[in-house]
Amino acid sequence: MSVKRIAVLTSGGDAPGMNAAIRAVARTAINRGLEVYGVYRGYNGLINDDMFEMNLRSVSDIIHRGGTMLYTARSPEFRTEEGMQKAIANLRKRGIDGVVVIGGDGSFRGAQDLTRRGMPTIGIPGTIDNDISCCEHTIGYDTALNTCMEMIDKLRDTAQSHDRCSVVEVMGRRAGYLALNVGIACGATSILVPEIEFDFEKDILERMAATAKTQKKHFIIIVAEGVGGVLEMAKSIEERTGIETRATILGHVQRGGSPTLRDRVLASQMGNEAVKLLLEGKSNRVVTIQNDHILDYDIEEALAMKKPFNLDLYEMAHEISI
Ligand code: ADP
Repeated sequence: MSVKRIAVLTSGGDAPGMNAAIRAVARTAINRGLEVYGVYRGYNGLINDDMFEMNLRSVSDIIHRGGTMLYTARSPEFRTEEGMQKAIANLRKRGIDGVVVIGGDGSFRGAQDLTRRGMPTIGIPGTIDNDISCCEHTIGYDTALNTCMEMIDKLRDTAQSHDRCSVVEVMGRRAGYLALNVGIACGATSILVPEIEFDFEKDILERMAATAKTQKKHFIIIVAEGVGGVLEMAKSIEERTGIETRATILGHVQRGGSPTLRDRVLASQMGNEAVKLLLEGKSNRVVTIQNDHILDYDIEEALAMKKPFNLDLYEMAHEISI
């Protein structure tokens, strides 16, 4: 039975580029003869039947905007059998026979639950954390990297003027990809990531001392969210070195902003592919990119995969940072 009417939703943490993905889903679907519904606030919109039929103009003027025009949510109710059944019943009532879920790994687990109850689903990885193992770049990651870089460049100006140390926490949940790449791009003295245990003396104080010997007087330490503790760390650095040290948690600014070219193109490709997969009768797949090729994986398989941490890049970063 071929797909005739699909729904698209954004779920979990938002990421710049989600709008470009929604646009690609809606335009591809309509241009290929499907009807498409935009669902508000993630899985809550399925439970509350909060959705509307989209036309080609519903997604005008959003490709350059951060956030998500469909809003997003975390939905504890969807994780109950009752919530899930309500969602399925609303989809069936409207004759919807396929759902595109734009979100992170939690959202894909929800998509799997829909598939298990007979609703075809395709996942699109939208998360600034880049923590989907089978996917080299998730939607929003590039924008977040660039936002962090710009913010830290500004911190560097003031750290340099005052001979200060700046300890900066960047997002990434349990993953250190954002921290590692931003750390390299911003010339951090030390980069702390959850994948690699660190030693306060060796990895921070000794590196700062070695740098100070060469007359450098300002320092940037990048700390991944999954390591945390930047306030205490800044205090300890100041106590031990006598160098004035400030902690900054970049926070939600990293989730916003106009998506970069890379995120817009990626989101467009992924949105287009998701609809093509549904039309091919595929389900329970996640769209990914590897070596510039758009691929798809079984969600179960994708969630079980582990992304290797790039140790070479980590070691290189530290080799050139003093
Ligand atoms: P992300 O998709 O960004 O990883 P979350 O982990 O918060 O964000 O997941 C988003 C939503 O997906 C949750 O609020 C919930 O509704 C749904 N979800 C998460 N985990 C599961 C699960 N194991 N089973 C079913 N639904 C889930």
